[in-house]
Amino acid sequence: MFASLSDRLTATFKNLRHKGRLTESDINATIRDIRLALLDADVALPVVKQFTSAIRERALGAEVSQALNPAQQVVKIVNEELVAILGGQTRSLQLAKNPPTVIMLAGLQGSGKTTLAGKLGKWLKDQGHTPLLVAADLQRPNAVTQLEVVGERAGVPVYAPERGNMGGHDAVLESGEGTRSFGDPVAVSRQGIEQARARQHDVVIVDTAGRLAVDANLMQQAADIRAAISPDEVLFVIDAMIGQAAVETAQAFQEGVDFTGVVLSKLDGDARGGAALSVASITGRPIMFSSIGESVKDFEVFHPDRMASRILD
Ligand code: GDP
Repeated sequence: MFASLSDRLTATFKNLRHKGRLTESDINATIRDIRLALLDADVALPVVKQFTSAIRERALGAEVSQALNPAQQVVKIVNEELVAILGGQTRSLQLAKNPPTVIMLAGLQGSGKTTLAGKLGKWLKDQGHTPLLVAADLQRPNAVTQLEVVGERAGVPVYAPERGNMGGHDAVLESGEGTRSFGDPVAVSRQGIEQARARQHDVVIVDTAGRLAVDANLMQQAADIRAAISPDEVLFVIDAMIGQAAVETAQAFQEGVDFTGVVLSKLDGDARGGAALSVASITGRPIMFSSIGESVKDFEVFHPDRMASRILD
């Protein structure tokens, strides 16, 4: 991910390094290159504008004209502004004073929520927590089974509703009929949290349903779950390969469930990825984790400064 953005920016800076003093036209040319590289990488237009105007203002100011090495100073500014766009500081999970900490996952179907539940569960378990995964995606019985498989791989227990009464629903639901489900996801989320309390799990991760596109009924369902369980964190999982739809999708989820943090998934892919990078800036919510593969280990805390260095490497 970001290989072509990274190559373009590196090439831009290479041109700049040949020069000693920088004229205004050198700086304008550099900013034009940066702008095109970001747009080609699918970074959202308002983010590109904000980014390039911050760079222009600083690059034309004293910090560059008085620098011993102006080109290096410009690179430093770009790095700092990129860190800012990516959310600034690394933000860690907000743990509840009175456990269990409740983490709700939201996002489009296929974005990687269920996979993330396992990864996050394992990551927490490795730090000495005792997480419980809760299957509140009841649109597709397969989703419950999938969470159970993921939980088993991660070595993290799963709370799932009884499925004795779901015969035949799979076919109906998989054919995409409305938002009928084989259980009440709000009730299941509540019961999962009660179970966590009873069995002394200190973190609960609630997996919720998503659609391939933003869907009013499912957004309402997610909002109802949020209202019922008052999570400490609501993580919006977004597939980094989503392209330009990232901004619209993120805004819809922000409005629907007011998420507290973002998880970028599928960062191991070779898509341009810039749209996903725009999400923190557009929503004002930090990117907290990244998912970088299908295995339960392919998971990292997101550090804006490290990501910026990787892109500008
Ligand atoms: P959900 O519908 O949001 O719960 O999404 P899933 O967790 O079921 O993921 C959808 C598909 O994406 C599955 O085939 C996963 O194996 C795959 N997937 C999830 N996260 C990643 C990731 O970080 N990298 C890659 N390459 N694939 C992923």
